Amino acid sequence: MRIDLHTHSSVSDGTESPADLLATAQAAGLDVVALTDHDTTAGWSIAEAVRPRGLTVVPGMEMSCRWYSDSDYPISVHLLAYLFDPTHPAFAAERARLRDERLERAERIVLRLEAEGYPIRWDSIVERVDGGVVGRPHIARALVEAGVVDSVDHAFATLLHPRSPYYVTKIDTDVREGIGLVRAAGGVPVFAHGLATKRGRTVGDDAIAAMTDAGLLGLEVDHPDHSAEQREHLRDLAGRLGLITTGSSDYHGTNKTTSIGVCTTDPEQYEALLSAGTGSVPFGD
Ligand code: AMP
Ligand code: FE
Ligand code: FE
Ligand code: ZN
Repeated sequence: MRIDLHTHSSVSDGTESPADLLATAQAAGLDVVALTDHDTTAGWSIAEAVRPRGLTVVPGMEMSCRWYSDSDYPISVHLLAYLFDPTHPAFAAERARLRDERLERAERIVLRLEAEGYPIRWDSIVERVDGGVVGRPHIARALVEAGVVDSVDHAFATLLHPRSPYYVTKIDTDVREGIGLVRAAGGVPVFAHGLATKRGRTVGDDAIAAMTDAGLLGLEVDHPDHSAEQREHLRDLAGRLGLITTGSSDYHGTNKTTSIGVCTTDPEQYEALLSAGTGSVPFGD
């Protein structure tokens, strides 16, 4: 069984439609793939409708969160959520707030760039997003196509970097509240790419222990942005805290260089995740 529990479609900041993403997953030899677009479940019904036979699709999401501590600046963290009830009112309301926040913040970034003379327009970003959930990758691609930078990676390292003068922050959910919402909706919260320093500052083991006290059920251990040492550290920590461990590619189509299925989840860990999720069921044969 080959299981990849973290992918993005064009419903958020991936480049493939849900149908193309699932075809890519099957062509790569996966048996199970989770669709985890940022802050939305809009891809779930599409994925259910277009799912190829033989492929199981786990409904999921990646929630934009922050770790707040008394002694330090807030740290951006991503929370994967699986098998929750998409109609749970408080959770649905928080997702809607995050999407509004994304839209407002992306527009402010684009306006700052425009004001400085960079040849991009908010209208064309909106067209590009096509009713989905906006993210910096949409702005990055527009900058590449306008010839301002030579790659999406380059855009992230310069104009769209958190230390860039054009960067605008967004107000993400307190991760402990996010974990509570996922659990209240019958879902399984898993801390995504927890040691990926490429994304910025990362939290310590004490924060992961506090998240576990708040109801966290898993850690994403095998991720392309984790080194062998980081994976070993997280696997050991998960063992001590009694957490499920997952592996996944965090595939984004051509917005990242990562291939689908480069990291996978152990079938026993997948079974544990399925047993813990009570808010919805995978789409399968
Ligand atoms: P945002 O959610 O709008 O803050 O944008 C962050 C998203 O951009 C992450 O979810 C990643 O998918 C993506 N991202 C971050 N760094 C890079 C990079 N260097 N190249 C491509 N995509 C990236
Ligand atoms: Fe993303
Ligand atoms: Fe992420
Ligand atoms: Zn992701």
